[in-house]
Amino acid sequence: MDIKQNLDNIKSQLPKHVTLVAVSKTKPISDLKEAYNAGQRIFGENKIQEMASKFEQMPKDIKWHMIGHVQRNKVKYMAKFVNLIHGVDSFKLLKEINKQAEKHNRTINCLLQIKIAEEDNKFGMSSKDALALLRSEEFLNLKSVSITGVMGMATFTDDNDQIKQEFTRLKIAFEELKTIDDSIKNLSMGMSSDYKLAIDCGSTMIRVGSSIFGARIHTKQ
Ligand SMILES: *Cc1c(COP(=O)(O)O)cnc(C)c1O
Repeated sequence: MDIKQNLDNIKSQLPKHVTLVAVSKTKPISDLKEAYNAGQRIFGENKIQEMASKFEQMPKDIKWHMIGHVQRNKVKYMAKFVNLIHGVDSFKLLKEINKQAEKHNRTINCLLQIKIAEEDNKFGMSSKDALALLRSEEFLNLKSVSITGVMGMATFTDDNDQIKQEFTRLKIAFEELKTIDDSIKNLSMGMSSDYKLAIDCGSTMIRVGSSIFGARIHTKQ
């Protein structure tokens, strides 16, 4: 795997308004360093402790994105450094992130995860719940979190029409939420297999792992 070449190749195809998150989960530090040396500064991980350990070992100008499902009791391990949490799917979780951010005297940026896939094994809230959350008094009282957008994952399928439908649904939710909150700017959708389609459907942030670092050895996540 030539990580630099893969990165250059992907970046050369991206419109200016699309941010690339290099998903380095399960990959060794040496691979992350290669991407870093090729200029990559945004890395995505899906396990909090793995991300915290990589944070300790890597240069400090990296922006770390938590892209996986977040357990409330682990927020404390990333609160001092995480740059963006993609998978916020409940008010309870948001409250815990706010509490931990306060302890470190910072504001943590979050995306609300919206469930767009038909599959049952994907996390997320409905767009209606997301709207209600943004409008709620309790949310307005949380001073140490900022919701800067939404994130979604399409069904794992070869059916491009279905993926396109799901991405379009998320784009519509994004546009709707934007009208009630100016902080909403990021639409995180698209992975190695579907990022081109995601960009066509309005994505502003893609999360790409295997097309940069090569296939992962299969683990549960
Ligand atoms: C692993 C992962 C990705 C990247 O997947 P690839 O297919 O390797 O690009 C993107 N988003 C989330 C939420 C992931 O867990």
